Amino acid sequence: MTEDDLYCETCERAVDRDEARRSETYGGLDPEKWQTLCCPDCGNRLKTVFVGGE
Ligand SMILES: [Zn+2]
Repeated sequence: MTEDDLYCETCERAVDRDEARRSETYGGLDPEKWQTLCCPDCGNRLKTVFVGGE
């Protein structure tokens, strides 16, 4: 597994980063810089990633 690979424990499947659903973060993180990647099947939150540039 590389750092970019995501895995949904609910569906027991790997989720490609391009396939993952993106949603806004929660907890006051800047949505311009952070996005939460969710499973396209069940919507489970998989990872919060930094998307903002320098
Ligand atoms: Zn899932």
